[in-house]
Amino acid sequence: MTNPIGICIHGGCGTLDKSLLSEAEWAETRAHLADSLRAGWRVLSKGGASLDAVEAAVVVLEDSPHFNAGHGAALTADSTHERDASIMDGATRGAGAVSTVKRIRNPIKAARAVMEKSDCVLIAGDAADAFAARNGLEIVENSYFTTQRRIEALASLKKRAAKGTLKAASEAERHGTVGAVALDRAGHLAAATSTGGFNNKPLGRVGDTPIVGAGTYARDGVCAVSGTGQGEFFIRNAAAYDIAARMTYARTPFKDAVDTLVFDVLKSHGIGAGFAAIDASGTPYAPYNTLGMARGWIADDGRLIVATHAEIHDMGKA
Ligand code: ASP
Repeated sequence: MTNPIGICIHGGCGTLDKSLLSEAEWAETRAHLADSLRAGWRVLSKGGASLDAVEAAVVVLEDSPHFNAGHGAALTADSTHERDASIMDGATRGAGAVSTVKRIRNPIKAARAVMEKSDCVLIAGDAADAFAARNGLEIVENSYFTTQRRIEALASLKKRAAKGTLKAASEAERHGTVGAVALDRAGHLAAATSTGGFNNKPLGRVGDTPIVGAGTYARDGVCAVSGTGQGEFFIRNAAAYDIAARMTYARTPFKDAVDTLVFDVLKSHGIGAGFAAIDASGTPYAPYNTLGMARGWIADDGRLIVATHAEIHDMGKA
């Protein structure tokens, strides 16, 4: 008998209300989630490494305009893009991250390069862009990441800030992230997360996504998780690590540990939160406490599932 494999992804818990996009736009969003899962599954089903699978899945989501990472990333208060990403290898607990990068097309590739080609865990700012360029990664203009939807979200948030109605802004106006977690045939877990962070964020703001243990964590034999939600609270609660810690030290069952963070620990701060998670037996799990969360998974049965709100779409065999 072969060991199980599995992959689970998210496209952020800041999902728009169903009524705000056309059915064709939702179908395209789901198609991009499916493409991301297939990119990861292609690696896993050939016996490839979970690290390669999560990187491949996140690259597809970074390149899609429907998610807040890469092309389509949030805008800072200065109308620029500063993006964060991290990746973690559950086998070695090696990790790499970049933060506030402006010109790397795919920050997740840069995070991987930090893990494998430097002695650092996190490289920030212009130095991270330069590091990526030195390592042969694609560099683009900052404007490549801009979409009309983000320009409108920034304008609306600035208006709300002036009127003092920021609290009434939807999760979708404010934030989003993408992430992937996977288990490979060798039993190794990996996690990857990439984000544009919050719309209208101040320059230099760093969220949970590039902080290992906050937005991303993987440990063989336990779980791999990638978070989405207001990063400041994920950092303060060491949220991603806390899931693995509950499973390891308190013997909390996998889904209970993830639920505790989403519906108790993080919710108690009044924030939207969600995770893409997978355990050591390949069970995918993607709970959220907001209106919706773009998400999907392929468990060992090979069926590709995607969703943006409560309704689940079974797309058949991957
Ligand atoms: N966690 C991201 C951040 O704080 C935002 C999100 O996931 O929606 O930058």
